[in-house]
Amino acid sequence: MAPGSSSSMASHIVGYPRMGPKRELKFALESFWDGKSSAEDLKKVSADLRASIWKQMSDVGIKYIPSNTFAYYDQVLDTTAMLGAVPPRYGWSGGEIGFDVYFSMARGNASVPAMEMTKWFDTNYHYIVPELGPEVNFSYSSHKAVEEYKEAKALGVDTVPILVGPVSYLLLSKPAKGVEKSFPLLSLLPKILAVYKEVISELKAAGASWIQFDEPVLVKDLESHQLQAFTEAYAELESTLSGLNVVVETYFADLTPEAYKTLVSLKGVTGFGFDLVRGTNTLDLIKAGFPSGKHLFAGVVDGRNIWANDLAASLALLQGLESIVGKDKLVVSTSCSLLHTAVDLVNETKLDDEIKSWLAFAAQKVVEVNALAKALSGQKDEAFFSANAAALASRKSSPRVNNENVQKLAAGLKGSDHRRATNVSSRLDAQQKKLNLPVLPTTTIGSFPQTVELRRVRREFKANKISEEEYVKAIKEEISKVVKLQEELDIDVLVHGEPERNDMVEYFGEQLSGFAFTVNGWVQSYGSRCVKPPIIYGDVSRPKPMTVFWSSTAQSMTSRPMKGMLTGPVTILNWSFVRNDQPRHETCYQIALAIKDEVEDLEKAGINVIQIDEAALREGLPLRKSEHGFYLKWAVHSFRITNVGVQDTTQIHTHMCYSNFNDIIHSIIDMDADVITIENSRSDEKLLSVFREGVKYGAGIGPGVYDIHSPRIPPTEEIADRIRKMLAVLESNVLWVNPDCGLKTRKYGEVNPALSNMVAAAKQLRQEL
Ligand code: GLN
Ligand code: ZN
Repeated sequence: MAPGSSSSMASHIVGYPRMGPKRELKFALESFWDGKSSAEDLKKVSADLRASIWKQMSDVGIKYIPSNTFAYYDQVLDTTAMLGAVPPRYGWSGGEIGFDVYFSMARGNASVPAMEMTKWFDTNYHYIVPELGPEVNFSYSSHKAVEEYKEAKALGVDTVPILVGPVSYLLLSKPAKGVEKSFPLLSLLPKILAVYKEVISELKAAGASWIQFDEPVLVKDLESHQLQAFTEAYAELESTLSGLNVVVETYFADLTPEAYKTLVSLKGVTGFGFDLVRGTNTLDLIKAGFPSGKHLFAGVVDGRNIWANDLAASLALLQGLESIVGKDKLVVSTSCSLLHTAVDLVNETKLDDEIKSWLAFAAQKVVEVNALAKALSGQKDEAFFSANAAALASRKSSPRVNNENVQKLAAGLKGSDHRRATNVSSRLDAQQKKLNLPVLPTTTIGSFPQTVELRRVRREFKANKISEEEYVKAIKEEISKVVKLQEELDIDVLVHGEPERNDMVEYFGEQLSGFAFTVNGWVQSYGSRCVKPPIIYGDVSRPKPMTVFWSSTAQSMTSRPMKGMLTGPVTILNWSFVRNDQPRHETCYQIALAIKDEVEDLEKAGINVIQIDEAALREGLPLRKSEHGFYLKWAVHSFRITNVGVQDTTQIHTHMCYSNFNDIIHSIIDMDADVITIENSRSDEKLLSVFREGVKYGAGIGPGVYDIHSPRIPPTEEIADRIRKMLAVLESNVLWVNPDCGLKTRKYGEVNPALSNMVAAAKQLRQEL
């Protein structure tokens, strides 16, 4: 099983999902956090998962198998632990970092909030942002990379240990609290390199022959001093790295010519990895010149999607590359870590064979990579290749994919603008006459805790174990409970709590045509949280209303306004696996038309406040600035299409999750929502200056007043203080008071006191006004 045993078949996997084919890690983590199982139990589940992945790749014949791609929470947090860069508030006093400190950084604990979490590039994965400054005493404090390497080796698998590259690590960090915002994070390079050297030396001593540095930051728009940092970092590591083969991986986008030049000139590096699915420009750069004697890790199998690879096309591409870099220097790889795709198609019992034949999950992608490598070395598996070609042909021509009517309607949108006829201030006046809300109105973002009982009811209904009648009764009872609770808490604009929804995207996708669903196609979002993205394989339409029954049922239970709750088209798109046979914006317009039908039906049913969540709007922003304008234009247009048809008196809310909004504020304003609620509490109020812009256009704004990602209960005074800070920047007549995001992941024991404190804080502030 040693690598190199089949030396001509060079195959490599950039990284692999950690959760396990049936989310084994999630359940182990949550049980450990709940105190229901021991640290040993958690370690055992994790070790078993790692072992089975290593075995699987080695059985397939992969030559370069990754290790340290596993993480208990996040690979960037692992790097923070490795470097001993623990913020002082966690009270760590040195030594090997254990679960206690590690999970406190990730999730907060009873007395200290968590570290900030933010999106990993343009994926739906979130990493824990390192907090750095001149005071940090870096020291080698987690030996996980070496331990995993040894663990695999003991199982007979020689792996390529992966480290987050030093420059990407620093450029993904932020200055710690109290450190000047302008603090040059790259000035810490010499300090962290000292730790990296210790790690590298240990890996070498343990027998590693290859090591992989992930430097995805190289695909961003970088300044020359940032590029220079890469050159300096690897020059500094060169002597430590000698005797080792080193691959520097990039992924998620093209490289600029400058970044490419920097990368391929790095000292001490043996190979370079590229995302060739998204990187067509990179391909041109490679063709124009690749350093001789170096390995090219060609990422041709898409790690961001679930579609079967076009093997014939990939093979042709690889053969072209082979003539540039030489036969023994070309390595077939994935475009990025397979972390961003589903785990294994074999566990899909509900998908029909036709759709299944169009797909490849992580386990199948490993096989594709290997098949391509074998074909390159002259051992093409003809049967495998022709089955693949047949599947691609069936997908192209399938009537399930094509709906002419939808195509026509969506094409009719092109070139035209869609906006509500009146401006937001006059609409808000009209709405206030109808809604009669107090100043600083309180609301929540939509979901309430999803109890074990609730999940059981949904599961049993899905499995036909309980009747529709019983199901409706149970959900109604839940809604009624949530409505009563909110009335007791004295919240102003209520929600029904989303008890009928497993997930904010899947729920809609299940009712739209053109979507397919997996049973185990989970992808990690953050920590133990996974999402199961629908697969958009065909033209999208809405056969019948999706939420009207539940929203009007909820409204009938209260005299307070009940928010209708929808997921917006951009978010449905960005949180799905999207077809790759037409541009994304075309698919988005189709979804927008379906949501528009739903918005209008809700309005007809007497729902006066409708929230259209665009939690993932920013997430779809292309990594390269030059592409932002085009994306934002069609994304914002899609959102406006959904509510262009409503009356002035219907209040449209939107909600967005943790994001950096500074650079897209104009697009957010251009969405023309009446009220926008935004995550704020984990971003240290830095959003407030952004909201000041919002005041100019007069819409309601609800920056989250407490963090729902942590079990911690925010005291009233703390929330009141937050609101006071917001009021220093925002007019009281536009400010809303709400949590950061939905409450589905919390427990009632946390939600009740937190919301009670939130309402108390709002009332206190109303007095102060
Ligand atoms: N309405 C959704 C909820 O409350 C919004 C979730 C989100 O923004 N991620 O669950
Ligand atoms: Zn949110």
